[in-house]
Amino acid sequence: MAENTKIEWATHTFNPWFGCTAISRACDFCYAETWAKRSGLVQWGNHPRRLASDTNWRKPYKWAKQAQHAPPSNYSEASRFRPRVFCASLADVFDNQAPQEWRERLWQVIRDTPELDWLLLTKRPQNIMDMIPRVWQPGLPSHIWVGVTAENQTEYDRRMNYLQDVPASVHFVSYEPALGPLKIGHRSFPNWIICGGEDRVREGREMDLQWARDLRDECKPRGVAFYFKQTNGKSEIPPDLMVREFPRAT
Ligand code: SF4
Repeated sequence: MAENTKIEWATHTFNPWFGCTAISRACDFCYAETWAKRSGLVQWGNHPRRLASDTNWRKPYKWAKQAQHAPPSNYSEASRFRPRVFCASLADVFDNQAPQEWRERLWQVIRDTPELDWLLLTKRPQNIMDMIPRVWQPGLPSHIWVGVTAENQTEYDRRMNYLQDVPASVHFVSYEPALGPLKIGHRSFPNWIICGGEDRVREGREMDLQWARDLRDECKPRGVAFYFKQTNGKSEIPPDLMVREFPRAT
């Protein structure tokens, strides 16, 4: 899933393949599509995805080895507990246009690197249960966190319906770009919400900071970790929104 700015909440980014197709308003101005056009590495949209190089696929093994030998203080603030790998910033792991054999290869890398927490963020949660290995269906390994993007209430309600059925130790929601108010309501909650506006101000797509404040206040009593990433246009973050919490695996 494309993240349009530096991903402060992860310590590493891993892209097993490249390419995706826009499916919702949050995909407008997709950073990865802009990157693809600039790099010429893959044609965006309904075109074949491109597998990353073997060199790239070896990176998680290197990070896992580092994690075995380095004390936690060698990592940034975002990884006070364990290294977090955001997978994938230039694709969607649960994209049905990506070959399943590539996902199988990814599952093996994830199995081989329990030293890393793997953050799988998708806009296609309806595919998760069909695409994970059968042995994970009763419960995913605890170092896999599964999340959905929810740019507004409609997408939150729709995607959370699928996410809540995925037996992961951590469920998270990326409310970015925030395009409308969002309430988590009274049903099952995610463990973590990352909130942010678009990095560039675009007319009609500005985040109202009150949405973020209301959500922050709703998260607290429910024990949902809240992480405020950025304001619209990356203007200065008001002191009361300087909240950067991380979830703990359940
Ligand atoms: S799902 Fe993510 S990577 Fe795919 S087009 Fe949308 S924003 Fe870009």
